[in-house]
Amino acid sequence: MTEQRQGAERDAVERAWGELVGTARRTVADGLVVGTSGNVSVRVGDTVLVTPSGVPYDRLRPRDALGVDLAGRRVIGDLTPTSELPMHLAIYRATDARAVVHTHAVHATAVSTLVAELPAVHYMTGVLGGPVRVAPYALYGTQELAENMLHALRDRTGCLLQNHGTVTYGDSLPQAYDRTAQLEWMSRLWLTASSVPGHTPTLLSPERLREAQDKLRGYGQKPSP
Ligand code: 13P
Ligand code: ZN
Repeated sequence: MTEQRQGAERDAVERAWGELVGTARRTVADGLVVGTSGNVSVRVGDTVLVTPSGVPYDRLRPRDALGVDLAGRRVIGDLTPTSELPMHLAIYRATDARAVVHTHAVHATAVSTLVAELPAVHYMTGVLGGPVRVAPYALYGTQELAENMLHALRDRTGCLLQNHGTVTYGDSLPQAYDRTAQLEWMSRLWLTASSVPGHTPTLLSPERLREAQDKLRGYGQKPSP
């Protein structure tokens, strides 16, 4: 590899690590994570940068950058990677994800203890590819949990983990983060609406959801010509 290319790769890793730490801190600042529960990763080429296990995000510095290859072998840094490495790697192996966010967001986790699927109370369900499934419980950090999660993620960009939390992925850290925030918001919405005595929330039909999903593909600003 030329020196120039090595330098460019180092810069890309440095930039991605900065974004990863920023996203991890945001999960705490926005109340989606308490302490060091949850983890974040971002893919740069065939390297996956991940948060270290059990280290508060405000302590992470540029020199703490930590990366593994798709087989989970550490290729950058010397801290111990997140215990949920099997979940993160399973997503990168099975999809074209560039970033993954896992949290223990309170409303989403509450929903994971109540139902097998978050009912389609809002059209933003379309952002996650359809009604969000709950992956059956398995011990944190296990291959079994990663397999249950992958199954629940079929045709979706997010799922709930029973009695545990959320997982979302996307093309970038901001997109993966936003999907987690939307999932938490929709969980809160459903819990709020379904807790009114004597009333049951109306749900959107699969046709209505598909229509919203199609429209959401063109949502926001168009790139300038
Ligand atoms: P780590 O600190 O090892 O990332 O674990 C947090 C977690 O959410 C486990 O499910
Ligand atoms: Zn967790």
